[in-house]
Amino acid sequence: MSVIYNRVALIGLGLIASSMYWAMKRDGVAGHVTGYARSDDTRETARRIGLCDTVCDSAEEAVIDADLIVLAVPVGAMGAVTRQIADHLKPGATVIDVGSVKRTVIDEVAPHLPEGVHFVPTHPMAGTEHSGPESGFATLFDNRRSLIVPVENCPEEAVTRVETYWQALGAMTDRMDPEHHDLVCAVVSHIPHLIAYTMVGVADDLRRVTDQEVIKYSAAGFRDFTRIAASDPTMWRDVFLTNKDATIEMLGRFTEELFALQRAIRTGDGEQLHAYFTHTRAIRRGILEAGQDTDKPDFGRVKVER
Ligand code: NAP
Repeated sequence: MSVIYNRVALIGLGLIASSMYWAMKRDGVAGHVTGYARSDDTRETARRIGLCDTVCDSAEEAVIDADLIVLAVPVGAMGAVTRQIADHLKPGATVIDVGSVKRTVIDEVAPHLPEGVHFVPTHPMAGTEHSGPESGFATLFDNRRSLIVPVENCPEEAVTRVETYWQALGAMTDRMDPEHHDLVCAVVSHIPHLIAYTMVGVADDLRRVTDQEVIKYSAAGFRDFTRIAASDPTMWRDVFLTNKDATIEMLGRFTEELFALQRAIRTGDGEQLHAYFTHTRAIRRGILEAGQDTDKPDFGRVKVER
């Protein structure tokens, strides 16, 4: 693989940025990579584990001479970080973000960037419930989608280069407009997280009543909810605060469907329940055929013998 950007700066050194670093090193995608994180602790950890060729003590220092700058902080911090680095960006450089919401990030970032610096919003559709500099791994983006959300007046070659970059990290790229992105992500990611948070909260209330039974008997379904509900609270607070409209819209539809199912259960309408579940099963098959998941029992988890 040949070098796509000579100098890359990672702003924020959590799950996504650290995975990008290890993937860049694996594939020889970048020449030199600098990194910056807000806290001394994270910067110390990064130095200890060899995350980044140089760990800088300020964002301004990290972006000097960088050809690609990656904003990998929570969505609510994107605007502040951009204002901090704006005056230090090299003319002709490209800034990308990896935020889970796009309309707000574009509104917060684009106005602060100087002329001659290109902004290409992106969103890798890959993650885990872990966060921080030690949680990343090189294969996180392999065969996963990375959504590219070009903004007006950005030169096509800057966008194409960002696509080539994500593909070099193992991802498949698709282009989308910001509103569509935020709606799609509300459906496939944001609402499922909200449901998981709620389900675990409800079960926790119940646990007090049934004395540990919920945990003791939690099989795969509930266990998966607890895994998702362990995701970073700051990241997810910001996602819901900044993707408000799409989340509220989708939550409304979800509630309507839930009431319809509740009614079918109450009235004993087995036909409706069966038809609904047959339809959802077909959707799952579609996901498998698209190669987006495994059909192995328990999602391919290896059983631990005791
Ligand atoms: P993370 O592991 O929690 O890391 C966040 C990083 O941002 C840390 O280095 C943190 O520094 C830094 N940071 C936090 N608040 C900041 C602030 N106010 N100013 C400057 N730096 C700040 O997060 P992540 O999972 O990598 O997520 C990063 C971005 O990727 C988010 O926008 C998220 O929406 C997006 N994303 C996440 C996933 C996922 O599944 N996790 C998937 C796709 C996209 P300290 O460690 O020093 O606090």
